[in-house]
Amino acid sequence: MELLLREAIAAALYRDRPTLDKDFSIETSLRQIYVDLLDFLDRNSNCSQVNFILLEINVGDETTIKPRKAECAKCGGLRWCEVRGHYQVSDSDEHMQWWDDWRILQCRGCDYIFVQRIMCDTENYHHTSDGAGGWGMELDETVKYWPALAKRKRPEWMSEFGIDAPNVGKLDQALIELYGALDNDLNILAGIRIRTAFDVASELLGINTEQSFQKKLDEIVEKGHIGIADKSRLATLVDAGSASAHRGWKPAASDLVLMTEILEHFVHDTFVAPSRKARLDAKATEMKSKVPPRKPVKTEKKD
Ligand SMILES: [Zn+2]
Repeated sequence: MELLLREAIAAALYRDRPTLDKDFSIETSLRQIYVDLLDFLDRNSNCSQVNFILLEINVGDETTIKPRKAECAKCGGLRWCEVRGHYQVSDSDEHMQWWDDWRILQCRGCDYIFVQRIMCDTENYHHTSDGAGGWGMELDETVKYWPALAKRKRPEWMSEFGIDAPNVGKLDQALIELYGALDNDLNILAGIRIRTAFDVASELLGINTEQSFQKKLDEIVEKGHIGIADKSRLATLVDAGSASAHRGWKPAASDLVLMTEILEHFVHDTFVAPSRKARLDAKATEMKSKVPPRKPVKTEKKD
């Protein structure tokens, strides 16, 4: 089922980028997904109540599903989203009833397309008050997103295109993988990725990769990329990363916040800040050539 939803998203993405494949027909693809879904439901008779709507099937028809609010991972926050597809599975036994809703949503703010899944059942609920002595009941919903919502805010120098510095492709990849591990609560993997990112950064700085981490740190200091205080902070980071990789240490979320901050600080100081400074210097030189030279100052003679 998840695979079909992924295909539906891919189809929706293609629709917005028709130049990717001129022969690709969104209607044909979505119709096929619809047929596959019906087939899946036929073969899975345990789904007693099924409601499936895919809005794009009748292209040109009026939208029948109201927009809804959801967390947009791209522009960050609760946003109104168009519902591009909806699939619900529901079932019950003698004790309870449950629902599982999948929606393909498109953010109205930034057009980002993602899946929101809401699960609830009649056994998990809380009471609500109407403020006038009356009370009601509200089901507790479990909300999940795919792709997962970002748990760590990226620094301003890290965009979807990578780090704001030239020729750091390998480090871009290492950081993207690190943030992916952090977003998905993969703590041991995140610890390992932090150490890998440090290793990649050292290599880009021209540090000999064949030596120990301690020697790499010494060389980074010798070459003037960081100071002595930065070195001891980074040594702690590298040791924590190694503990994840070789000693099975699972860092807590708070440990990872600190480790990521140390790494981001290092990347900023050694790649981002020098590149921004160089760009600023180039612009200043360019401006200097446009500014008219000063006229010699005349000194007035006092009688
Ligand atoms: Zn958005």
